[in-house]
Amino acid sequence: MADRQDPIVGIDLGTTNSVVAIIVDGKPLVLDEAGEKLLPSVVGINPQGQLVTGVAARNQLAAFPDRTVASIKRQMGRMDPVALGDQTFTPPEISAMILRRLRDRASRAIGQPVNRAVITVPAFFDENQRQATREAAGLAGLTVERIINEPTAATLVYHAGSHDRKQIAVYDFGGGTFDVSIVRMEAGVIEVLSSRGDVHLGGDDLDQVLVNHVADQFQTEHGVDLRKNSQARYRLWLACEQAKRRLSTDETVEITEEFIAEKAGQPLHLTATVTREEFEELIEPFVARTIDSLDEALRESGLTIHQLDDLVLVGGSTRIPLVEARLREEFQREPSRAVDPDLAVALGAAVQAAMIDGRSAGPVLVDVTGHTLGIEACTEMTFAGPKMFFSPIIHRNTPLPARYEQAYSTLYDDQDAVDIHVLQGERPEVHRNQSIGKFRLELETGSGDRNKVVVRFDLTLDGILKVSATQSATGLSQVLTIQNALSQFQADDRDRAESRLKTMFDDSVEFLDEDDGPFSNEWQAEDSDGKDALSTADHASAEVRFPEAVAILKKADSLRASVEGQDAEDLELLCENLKQAMTLDDPAAVASLIAELDDLLFYVR
Ligand code: AMP
Repeated sequence: MADRQDPIVGIDLGTTNSVVAIIVDGKPLVLDEAGEKLLPSVVGINPQGQLVTGVAARNQLAAFPDRTVASIKRQMGRMDPVALGDQTFTPPEISAMILRRLRDRASRAIGQPVNRAVITVPAFFDENQRQATREAAGLAGLTVERIINEPTAATLVYHAGSHDRKQIAVYDFGGGTFDVSIVRMEAGVIEVLSSRGDVHLGGDDLDQVLVNHVADQFQTEHGVDLRKNSQARYRLWLACEQAKRRLSTDETVEITEEFIAEKAGQPLHLTATVTREEFEELIEPFVARTIDSLDEALRESGLTIHQLDDLVLVGGSTRIPLVEARLREEFQREPSRAVDPDLAVALGAAVQAAMIDGRSAGPVLVDVTGHTLGIEACTEMTFAGPKMFFSPIIHRNTPLPARYEQAYSTLYDDQDAVDIHVLQGERPEVHRNQSIGKFRLELETGSGDRNKVVVRFDLTLDGILKVSATQSATGLSQVLTIQNALSQFQADDRDRAESRLKTMFDDSVEFLDEDDGPFSNEWQAEDSDGKDALSTADHASAEVRFPEAVAILKKADSLRASVEGQDAEDLELLCENLKQAMTLDDPAAVASLIAELDDLLFYVR
């Protein structure tokens, strides 16, 4: 079917459903299996001990909740183990199972192996979550050609073929996430002016309030809490999700589940009636939150709602009449249903894939960064010492690729090193942002003055961040490339995950080559003016200089009692070596011992 070797597919890896699409003869096409376009994003282990994905997995949710995982997208970016039967997996491993199924579906549909993909993520996903998505794809044997934002993908479909100037809002309310983007399209260029969202707001939350409503009524009537029993809870959730969908067209629904519980040996049946009005009252606060996000996104874009040409609805939850009504009120016009709310994102990813492949001259995409990036710096000297803050360098909503620099001065005369701590987030307090990398620049001393250091950030379209720090006077420089700094897997873990997935799929999968490691260091020169002051290496104690080491030693302490045998001996040795490396002020040894300790703690937990 496809006209190319090594085709690139577009994948919408959704919380509830996932979709794969490709461009054929210039037209985006969703690839289905037996007519099913949506693949439920659910994985499970069936009673025969085999891996099941999609509909089969969703169907066993109620019967085997302990052997089934849904909505894993909400956990992407975290490494907390997820139980699936008698094994545990990381969120990227679970997502890899869904991606692998989509890859197989696509390979079968187009009659040739599929190894490359454009994958969409919510605009509000941070680097950690994007990296987890890349790693999931790697485990599924897919090279990620580009990660694009879901609303951007939807715009590519909405805008297809048009060259008119338009400013639109893409309001995407799915199963697990919500985001809204203000987008400008002009002369074939799509520019995301601003994006706002909530990775913890979606149709799942609406299901949950309905579950609570029905379960509370049942408890009042029968004195039994259905939420306490995992099977009853899942049956109730499935029934409420169906009821929610029916309430988009019907004014009243009946929820009936026979033999859902028992009391004193007697079976209990559930029968509940929910009206649309009751449901709307329950979900109103969630819908209000989405409208607040729309207002914020508009404010950030510098546009008013009246300057929008269209408000495009994407995601299954936009079928809810209350959502449409609130948006109509806000927009004072009819929101647009020009794109298929379930398929637009995957179709847009396919359009982008074809563009990367040089196959169609579609619109050019200008994406923005979803988070502010910067470093830790001192903006104030207090009696107690330097007060550290987050100093932004690339602000949120800056179009990509972006290159910005900021100059700082050292805190002390003749300071011989500065620590560059790279952060992502929106808060002035350092600890309320996410740490995404660290390195040290040794400075040449002797002038008796404070030194100027220029910190430059280069952020690519793929979210790869290159941070350089340069001593102005000498040109001495260090560069840190953060592409893998947020790597979810240590090399050994990834090998283990790969071979485990290979076995589970009972098929050989070709995986990506190992990267060189989290950081690549090199030397280069640059110059600029002085500004804020950087933290000093000399004047801090070992604990202050190695906060991650302190944190992991604390974690080791708290887990010590539960570790036995060889693991316990290894733990003691690693802790001792780490303390020694801190005392000797050896950052390389500290970093590698932290990694080893982290590895050990992950497995003994
Ligand atoms: P998506 O992530 O875009 O696939 O959206 C899936 C979400 O949309 C799930 O929470 C579904 O329950 C919800 N959904 C799908 N169809 C409807 C409908 N007709 N009415 C209300 N919610 C729906």
